[in-house]
Amino acid sequence: MSRTSVYVEQISPRSTPEQVSEGIARLLHPFDLARMADGKTVLIKPNLSGESGPANTDPRVIYGVVRAFEQAGASALVGDGSIIGVDTMSVMREIGLIDALKGTRAEIVDLKTGRYVETRVRRGRCAKQVALAEAASAADLIVSVAKMKTHDATAVSLCMKNLSGLMHEYDMLHFHHVNVSECIVDLVATVKPALNIVDGLMAMDTFGAGPVEMGCVIAGTDPVAVDATASRAMGVDPAGIYAGTLAESHIKRAHERGLGEMKDIEVVGDLPSAQFAPPPASLNEISIPDGIEIIDGDPCPACIAMLATVLQKSQISNNKLGNTVILVGPNAPPPEKTKGRTIIIGNCLHRLQSTTQGSVFVIGCPPNATYDVLPVLEA
Ligand code: SF4
Repeated sequence: MSRTSVYVEQISPRSTPEQVSEGIARLLHPFDLARMADGKTVLIKPNLSGESGPANTDPRVIYGVVRAFEQAGASALVGDGSIIGVDTMSVMREIGLIDALKGTRAEIVDLKTGRYVETRVRRGRCAKQVALAEAASAADLIVSVAKMKTHDATAVSLCMKNLSGLMHEYDMLHFHHVNVSECIVDLVATVKPALNIVDGLMAMDTFGAGPVEMGCVIAGTDPVAVDATASRAMGVDPAGIYAGTLAESHIKRAHERGLGEMKDIEVVGDLPSAQFAPPPASLNEISIPDGIEIIDGDPCPACIAMLATVLQKSQISNNKLGNTVILVGPNAPPPEKTKGRTIIIGNCLHRLQSTTQGSVFVIGCPPNATYDVLPVLEA
């Protein structure tokens, strides 16, 4: 059996759009796009999450991918739905995507403004059906064009995680509420991108240096192999990331469910090598404001990173400080006595919900920082 191939092309982050486009053409040459896409409608799905600029897919990479598919005879749509509460078209304008695509025939679509189609998840472990944007359901092919970055909920966000933007916001939140890693695998089993491309021109070291010059793009037909390879470029072991009670690596889970190869991969081209900062490994590594007590039940890195984000963003009023106890991690004991309010975080502590008086339980594995935990903390 032939090994799964993943291709890497070096492209300087200081390249012009045309130079990036030429690099993308070289990267995609082995895939015979004419055979794959001639006469077809291709939804090109960048990561336009709407977080800070460098966390989104570079418009020059999107331009290069559109050009490659148009030259192969395809009709290209470029579409995404940004993270919950963020206007996708604003993100597209802010990062210069609309201007970048002016020389192409691509149609730009805000997936959040169209219809959604309830779609059955075959052999889903967490989700039985998801609402997919109609543009995704109607397209002949989907191409995931992800940003190379580390991420608080899933350790890395690459081609598989990128598919979340195809879903209705309700399902995005539902994924967090059930088990985000396993749900992503359900989504990959349903959507199956024809091609997976990672933009590593400027990658995002979320827990460390911020934007990092990696100067590469990576592509392959196997989403697991592409994500595993891009993880290794960032110094993140795809088998080990976020090993926890429930929050194991979505890459490892996808491999185990037969959706792609994680180990036996032929990497064609020079893969850069870096060591991105890991997420905080213990609650001692995050900044906790005076007056908030956290009961440490050995939480997974996903919940530690989520809490770090929440505590950094929160504008908790002074009269709530000294009055708040947060329980996190599967081994957290019930509080001996409540000081005021007790916030119980995450599905692994569901057992304490009914026995802790005056508590608020926040569902999720890990819960969403902005939409689940922050409003409870600031309430
Ligand atoms: S909810 Fe519990 S099991 Fe899930 S990520 Fe948080 S600590 Fe881990």
